[in-house]
Amino acid sequence: MSERIYLSPPHMSGLERKYVDEAFDTNWVAPLGPNVDGFEREFAARVGSPHAAALSSGTAALHLALILSDVGPGDEVIVSSLTFVASVNPITYVGAKPILVDSEERSWNLDPERIEEAIRDRMTKTGRLPKAVLAVHLYGQSADLDAIHAVCQRHGVTLVEDAAEALGTTYWGKDGGGGSSSADRAGSGGSVKSPGTIGRVGVFSFNGNKIITTSGGGMLVSSDEALIQRARKLATQARDPAPHYEHTEVGYNYRMSNILAGVGRGQLAVLDERVAARRENFAYYQEALGSLPGLMFQPDAGWGLHTRWLTCVLVDPTKFGATREQIRVRLEEHNIESRPLWKPMHLQPLFADAPMYGGAVADRLFELGLCLPSGSSLAAEDRERIAGLIREMARPA
Ligand SMILES: *Cc1c(COP(=O)(O)O)cnc(C)c1O
Repeated sequence: MSERIYLSPPHMSGLERKYVDEAFDTNWVAPLGPNVDGFEREFAARVGSPHAAALSSGTAALHLALILSDVGPGDEVIVSSLTFVASVNPITYVGAKPILVDSEERSWNLDPERIEEAIRDRMTKTGRLPKAVLAVHLYGQSADLDAIHAVCQRHGVTLVEDAAEALGTTYWGKDGGGGSSSADRAGSGGSVKSPGTIGRVGVFSFNGNKIITTSGGGMLVSSDEALIQRARKLATQARDPAPHYEHTEVGYNYRMSNILAGVGRGQLAVLDERVAARRENFAYYQEALGSLPGLMFQPDAGWGLHTRWLTCVLVDPTKFGATREQIRVRLEEHNIESRPLWKPMHLQPLFADAPMYGGAVADRLFELGLCLPSGSSLAAEDRERIAGLIREMARPA
């Protein structure tokens, strides 16, 4: 049997070694050092945020983002139901309660109208506003940030962004002006933003399956310098300035290693190539499979650059002739990894008691959705083999 094809494996550039070697040569083998400083600086410049703190994981970054947004015991936080559990677990770490909200069809991300509905209903039921809205940007595409930001501003609720899957993604809004292609927009200047930089705090991840990786790691970004300084302090056991170890609040051990930050610098340098390769995978799949009955790709909402971190399809079994699970099993028989879309949090035993607003969209996406192998190192002949296997399963026209 041929070698396993993974959904989204790490893809090193070779540039990482220079930074890692430097760390060894200078003995900066610690959760601080020149690579950490350099990675923070280069990352902040890349996403267009004034300040960034490199951390041990995206989950740790989300935990700190909530603490820094003053979310605490008894508070409520609005979050997408359709997401990875790591978006929601940190809400429980701080003793707050997740309020789950459905996706919209256009991007599969948080539905701004449902957020409005949830905020009003929470006010009626609890007499208090939710403390924050945690917007997730799934599979390489931005949520409808202008609309979500507007709802948050109208009610004075803090916006936190989980951009773990959206490094390299952009957002220019529904009426950003200028041309319609990403190249045109990129040239049009100030209106093109990175998800993660519009809310008060944004979070990114460098887990092994993300568009770039440090094996494990995360980044917290904000335009508020004091907030990022506080994040660094909380991430190093909240040590107060003193010659001895002095502490006035609870801290964590969440900083990124200087070795891993070196990997991150080498990865960040090739981010544009990684985005291009993922988009090429998508273009290939779309070309090869787009005309099959009952098979639809994740829509491009048109309000930003979709990196196609993962190429996701919806399979309507009555039209296609097989279920998404049958496709997954068939690919698995050929040692090819594919995966259903995130199972929504309102369907998880862990969050069975969480209030849920809407749900029909996320339910359907989970029922029909499959993520195809999407790595930036995916070989053209492997892609063809995958598409061929799927095509064989389709109902003859
Ligand atoms: C990967 C991911 C995270 C968590 O990041 P880690 O670095 O793995 O802790 C959070 N949210 C989403 C949506 C993710 O995909």
